[in-house]
Amino acid sequence: MLITPQAAAAAIDAELPGLPIEARPLSQCVGGTLRENIYAERDYPPFDRVCMDGIAIASEAARRGLRRFAVQATQAAGAPPLTLANAESVIEVMTGASLPWGTDCVIPLEHYVLDQGVVMLTGPVNDTPFRNVQRRGEDGRHGTLMLEAGTLLGAPEIAIAASAGLARVRVSSQPAFMVISTGDELVEPGEPIAGHQIRRSNTYAVIAALRARGFDRVSNDHLLDEEAMLSDRLSLHLATHEVLILSGGVSMGRFDLVPKVLQSLGVRQVFHRVAQRPGKPLWFGIGPRGQAVFGLPGNPVSTLICLVRFVIPAIIIAMGTRRPAAERIGLAKSVHFDLPLAYFLPVVVQIDEWGRPWASPRPTNTSGDFLSLIGTDGFVELPPGPVTYPKGFVAPLYRW
Ligand code: AMP
Ligand code: MG
Repeated sequence: MLITPQAAAAAIDAELPGLPIEARPLSQCVGGTLRENIYAERDYPPFDRVCMDGIAIASEAARRGLRRFAVQATQAAGAPPLTLANAESVIEVMTGASLPWGTDCVIPLEHYVLDQGVVMLTGPVNDTPFRNVQRRGEDGRHGTLMLEAGTLLGAPEIAIAASAGLARVRVSSQPAFMVISTGDELVEPGEPIAGHQIRRSNTYAVIAALRARGFDRVSNDHLLDEEAMLSDRLSLHLATHEVLILSGGVSMGRFDLVPKVLQSLGVRQVFHRVAQRPGKPLWFGIGPRGQAVFGLPGNPVSTLICLVRFVIPAIIIAMGTRRPAAERIGLAKSVHFDLPLAYFLPVVVQIDEWGRPWASPRPTNTSGDFLSLIGTDGFVELPPGPVTYPKGFVAPLYRW
């Protein structure tokens, strides 16, 4: 019985245990998923903040018509606020300084001349109260929720955590991945190769896709289609890794031994085979310690599509990341598909003259034809046929 890709993804999510939490130094958190709420440590900004280099004045004096002032002192960012002695004086202030007591307005330096400690305003100035001052608490109030657990940490979020005074934040720990190729025909890049052999490319593709998403605990191994070797090494990898991503050996051939060996090691099969093209032989199981084991079909297009469609989203959910809205896109031209299977169609995202994105189909010759993937951005997931999807048909887009 084949299950749909949606049912397969739901089954994976239901089985995958959540990843543990660790406190990491802030500088090592980009790309991670926040697992605590972060609240404002103070008001933002924490004081009435000078926004321009210039002079701080009592605005009422300028409104009275006063044009000439004595410079009482200079106050830089980082200095405690001074107090204005009288309305006929000003305090020179720099951007980022705390507004001096007794002043309520900043005149930028292009609106006055300063000569021997005396300021003369040149031309009209804007002397409304709190001009060029950012009021305390204007951006946010002490104690308000700034970042919620589940947020993916990019540059702005890291800045916010730093501004909240946190040296370390609680994030999901990354799983230890083991990426395993299987197949007697496979030869490592850099090694001599015979006419009947194939380069071991899937492992590199899988590792690249994981690294591109910030996962860096990634090891790899290569196994022959031999029961004893598969059994020994998979049992070792199950003991030391949380996520195993195998490629090859899950189809119907005599040497497709992966499902059988995994089950003999106590990995419970959750599903085998999904109603999709490519990638129908996809296998998924859960190890005795909750390890996630993905058996991806070995054809390179299938491997990469199954990784991006199933493995990576599942890991992101297991990290507690708030589910990002799926990207959707219209087909740039009609596509025909004959089979009662979901159809993963590689596409190039093209922008039309009005700036709208369209998915331009790049069907592959076979699921082994990864040369057709050159220049593609990802693939769309089309519902089962037989059907002709019209131009403009909107489908979820998965980027490589
Ligand atoms: P399998 O799923 O083991 O039946 O493999 C299907 C096809 O994918 C075969 O033609 C394999 O040679 C090819 N293949 C399997 N693993 C890899 C790999 N790591 N790199 C490139 N091709 C592979
Ligand atoms: Mg094989």
